Amino acid sequence: MSVEMRWGFVGASDIAGRVIESLRKIEGAQPAGICSGSEQRAREFAQRHGLALAGTDLRSWLEQGGFDAIYISSTNQLHAQQTLAALRHGCHVLCEKPLAMSEQDARDMVRAAAEAGRVLATNHHLRGSPANQRLRELVASGELGEVHSVQVSHAVYLPRHLQGWRLDRPDAGGGVLLDILVHDADVLRFVLQREPRGVISFATSAGMARAGLEDNAMSVLEFEGGVLAQCHESFVAAHAQSRLHLFGTRANVYSVGALSQAGSTRLVLRDESGEQLIELPPADVYENTLRAFTQACAGHGAPLCTGADGLASLRVALGALESSRLGRRVEL
Ligand code: NDP
Repeated sequence: MSVEMRWGFVGASDIAGRVIESLRKIEGAQPAGICSGSEQRAREFAQRHGLALAGTDLRSWLEQGGFDAIYISSTNQLHAQQTLAALRHGCHVLCEKPLAMSEQDARDMVRAAAEAGRVLATNHHLRGSPANQRLRELVASGELGEVHSVQVSHAVYLPRHLQGWRLDRPDAGGGVLLDILVHDADVLRFVLQREPRGVISFATSAGMARAGLEDNAMSVLEFEGGVLAQCHESFVAAHAQSRLHLFGTRANVYSVGALSQAGSTRLVLRDESGEQLIELPPADVYENTLRAFTQACAGHGAPLCTGADGLASLRVALGALESSRLGRRVEL
């Protein structure tokens, strides 16, 4: 069903350009404005993406814009205050991950959305992947038997154009745990349909990240029912492919490449009859996320990842950070 929605973008970021591409595939969606901390970045972004309204003062830009929905992709320390401002203006909000920098801020955002009667969603786009959706079905149907253990490898070599605040700005939420573990925690919560109870994490810098930030981390999460998930996240792993492997008492299944922005994925199931490749439809994971969000704003269903989900996944990343500092398990 087509829904007319006028969109404003907060943050002249790299990912906002990618999201606009996907938004243009959605009937009724109208990308209309950009708000940046810099006049020049706002103007250039507006020109590049054909947006009519460029601004630098969030409040007056929101007043002028007449937006229905706001997509927030500024650096992480700004997500909470910008979300609250957009909600106060009566807009629905799709906010980037991590939802906020602190649990309290994320709670305030979720509460404010409920009080305003607006949709708050988190852009954990991996929920829009057919591979992750299929894994969730396989777990829920019992086809794998009981799943007791999971391995995740989500390691990248951070591309040159993203080697900025992620590597040297603790105040902006840099570091691989807030950047990537938060996604993996969310995808695990989605696939397993269980909540994590504890985390233990080791995090180091191989020299790419500075200012006390980590660029390489390994964590173990313990989920309800004792399910263990071992997670590897890195900014310093060249030519790696992501992998998510679920081990069940009847079968095991792994995806290769599904923890990424691209839709190219291989999903392999291994059981008593041998190995089979599971066919998956091609997909734009951002488009799927935006479609569900749009429908939720029109009163049909829920977004793929709610604000409350963003909060729950943030808690895992914050717990991992605390664990790596303390050198012990942190209860979630
Ligand atoms: P960018 O570094 O591209 O942009 C972040 C902010 O940096 C922008 O909002 C902009 O501020 C500022 N900025 C952009 N270009 C410049 C520049 N040349 N000089 C100085 N400042 C600049 O960040 P990302 O797009 O990588 O990430 C943005 C957010 O999106 C983060 O929260 C991140 O975690 C999330 N993200 C999510 C992804 C997903 O798939 N769900 C993927 C990638 C990122 P201003 O607005 O003031 O112009």
